[in-house]
Amino acid sequence: MAYDVVVIGTGPGGYVCAIKAAQLGLKTAVVEKRETFGGTCLNIGCIPSKALLHASEMLAEAQHSFDTLGVEVEPKLNLGKMMAHKDATVTSNVNGVAFLFKKNKIDSFRGTGRVVSAGKVSVTADDGSVQEIEAKNIVIATGSDVAGIPGVKVDFDENVIVSSTGALSLPKVPENLIVVGGGVIGLELGSVWARLGAKVTVVEYLDSILGGMDGEVAKQFQRMLAKQGFTFKLGSKVTGVAKNGKGASVTFEPVKGGDAETIEADVVLVATGRSPYTEGLGLKEAGVEMDERGRVKTDGHLRTNVPGIYAIGDVIAGPMLAHKAEDEGVAVAEIIAGQAGHVNYDVIPGVVYTSPEIASVGKTEEELKKAGIEYKVGKFPFTANGRARAMLHTDGFVKILADKATDKVLGAHIVGFGAGEMIHEAAVLMEFGGSSEDLGRTCHAHPTMSEAVKEAAMATFFKPIHI
Ligand SMILES: Cc1cc2nc3c(=O)[nH]c(=O)nc-3n(C[C@H](O)[C@H](O)[C@H](O)COP(=O)(O)OP(=O)(O)OC[C@H]3O[C@@H](n4cnc5c(N)ncnc54)[C@H](O)[C@@H]3O)c2cc1C
Repeated sequence: MAYDVVVIGTGPGGYVCAIKAAQLGLKTAVVEKRETFGGTCLNIGCIPSKALLHASEMLAEAQHSFDTLGVEVEPKLNLGKMMAHKDATVTSNVNGVAFLFKKNKIDSFRGTGRVVSAGKVSVTADDGSVQEIEAKNIVIATGSDVAGIPGVKVDFDENVIVSSTGALSLPKVPENLIVVGGGVIGLELGSVWARLGAKVTVVEYLDSILGGMDGEVAKQFQRMLAKQGFTFKLGSKVTGVAKNGKGASVTFEPVKGGDAETIEADVVLVATGRSPYTEGLGLKEAGVEMDERGRVKTDGHLRTNVPGIYAIGDVIAGPMLAHKAEDEGVAVAEIIAGQAGHVNYDVIPGVVYTSPEIASVGKTEEELKKAGIEYKVGKFPFTANGRARAMLHTDGFVKILADKATDKVLGAHIVGFGAGEMIHEAAVLMEFGGSSEDLGRTCHAHPTMSEAVKEAAMATFFKPIHI
């Protein structure tokens, strides 16, 4: 029997694709080489990191805010319990995917999938046995893996020199932690360990953290992290990471030229990005084209150059985000089912789950300037928001960018408590091509943090009320 769809990989791209395909009446199977479903995101990415971010944020709140709020406690870290909470969260999420596969009558094959040719996938189990599955359509959703530092040999032992995976399970709080890479993952995991007591130094190649984010947001956020105890070595090119004694050292030199510096720590987290994962998939032999960065090449309908083979998620171009992979999973299932699946890449929110959170959707000021688009800016700080004051969360601001001529919202950027939830009102508005006046005239409940979004929108086309 041939399946209508065989999905290789069960991360947020693959598992969502499989469920959608089954819901649309397609006979579907998944192939997964990991012991549990859910991919990077559920096992060693989004979910465990958010469990630790939340728990460590609660500790920091208890240490720094509770007293002002009139709550007297003596907070104490129990790292073992915090890790147990993280592990239990992962287990319940991966079990949830297994339940949904059963519910939707999706068959699963445990082992490494390989594309034999269009229409045929082989699965090699851990014991070496090989099975072939017939598939009218194949979806490659094999995700990504940790990338090292270009030109530098990094011996990850996941104990002293760690990737994000090791940083999610350190057995004790390091006194000093060096994070190589000032991107989202490095800053999130750096925040976890900083809140738990580590002294964190971030070494970053670029002149700013969060490369690609709105420049003003990145600058203000860096100041906030510095206040939280982070040290930054920006514009620094790492030339060596080595174990020494009980810890490790990182050597770097100024990108613009100058003397090299070596710093030491108990633990070094290398968080320099992720690479598409296609190892052992047999794509070359099957004639599937890749792009210059090793990603599977797809067209606007997520099709590869080989008919019947599609690809989604981290393994193709675009932001390496779980929700982007999920939306592509839905779209590709719809396309295979003969429907009009589509992903709007202009409206994909990005969130950094630090404290405060950073969230953005659409264009940054830098992108608009580069594209020569004339725009208006509306800003509103949380210091002027009643709810933020009541909760002691006044750090940050909302910035709305709108087209100067049409008032259409082109981008929204939020630094603040709950930014990752608030960003969606801008995303929905943008999906419908709304203007800043639409947003500013929409009634917002009082008192909410979201009122700052309304006020920033008002500032874009006229004036806010509360400043
Ligand atoms: C620490 C960390 C935190 C993150 N936090 C967030 C976040 O908060 N929000 C967010 O949006 N994104 C986050 N990400 C990124 C997110 O995890 C990825 O964008 C997302 O998992 C990509 O989904 P995917 O389905 O493409 O691939 P993956 O989730 O990587 O899943 C691919 C699956 O394919 C399997 N596989 C690979 N090759 C084969 C094969 N040949 N045969 C069978 N199975 C195979 C793998 O075992 C894996 O299970 C985070 C990542 C990390 C590392």
